[in-house]
Amino acid sequence: MTEDILSLSDIEDAHQRIAPHVLHTPVVPAFDLSEKSGGDIWLKLETLQATGAFKLRGAINAALCLDDDARAAGIVAVSSGNHGRGLAYAGRKLGFRAIICVSSLVPAVKVEAMRKLGAEVRIIGDNQDAAEEEANRLVREEGMTFVSPFDDPIVMAGQGTIGIELLEDLPDLDVAIVPLSGGGLIAGIACALKALKPSVQVIGVTMERGAAMHESLKAGHPVPVDEYPSWADALGGSIGLDNKYSFTLCRALLDDTVLVSEDEIVAAMRHMYRAQQLVIEGGAAVGVAAVLSGKYDCSGKKAAIVVSGRNVDMDRFTKEVAL
Ligand SMILES: *Cc1c(COP(=O)(O)O)cnc(C)c1O
Repeated sequence: MTEDILSLSDIEDAHQRIAPHVLHTPVVPAFDLSEKSGGDIWLKLETLQATGAFKLRGAINAALCLDDDARAAGIVAVSSGNHGRGLAYAGRKLGFRAIICVSSLVPAVKVEAMRKLGAEVRIIGDNQDAAEEEANRLVREEGMTFVSPFDDPIVMAGQGTIGIELLEDLPDLDVAIVPLSGGGLIAGIACALKALKPSVQVIGVTMERGAAMHESLKAGHPVPVDEYPSWADALGGSIGLDNKYSFTLCRALLDDTVLVSEDEIVAAMRHMYRAQQLVIEGGAAVGVAAVLSGKYDCSGKKAAIVVSGRNVDMDRFTKEVAL
């Protein structure tokens, strides 16, 4: 059933298509985290992508799949920052117009980064719904193509290329621990992993407040959630009450979900900074937080944590994390 939405061959095609534009990011050992947890923990460093986050994979895949007319009219998206940055980068590299609609919760550093890449950014309202209305208007009135950050099989195929790389580099992997918001990242990865090695477990991690996919999975259907300011700003927003794909895939493919608190997220960012000398954003730290807090038990397992991005406000990071 999930094959009809997204198959391994879709992800393999995406892997070839996007290879000239994205890094095959390294996995590095997390020595301290392994000692603490009793597992064999590896970090998949999507922080190293040109835009500082994995979303470049899905964005570039979607852009490369457009026909000439669609590319001429341009792409519009709603984004918590990193998807927009990926599309802005793709727009600059492949030569098309990108308009990104964001809510006021999106950090200024992310807005600036999109503008610097030449995208037009519209800040509308204090949640993603208002931004979505503006995006829909642009589709209706200007014929632009809407690219969802997660609920699109082509985007998920791009994110799923991480799963292929994980098994190339860690063939004896037991579990992948993946940040979860709309579910495009984890659905893509799970689809690749379960097709290539069905025994691999896939665990989604998100923040306690506004855990849209977690609440929806519990309810058995997409539910609305309130949005709160969070260190994990990249994980905010609903999965859409009209969710078409990512909810179905997550329901079929995820083995479990784990929730982490704001304090646990900051502790994980600090741990990455001190033990690995890595600057990562809050949304990327949730997997580390799940292991560091002991909320997910890795003992005896070979685990890969997807560290999904690094786009954090450095002034805030220096004052509140790098202590
Ligand atoms: C978007 C994003 C996620 C979550 O991806 P989904 O496909 O929405 O689940 C995780 N981490 C970072 C840094 C992101 O930008």
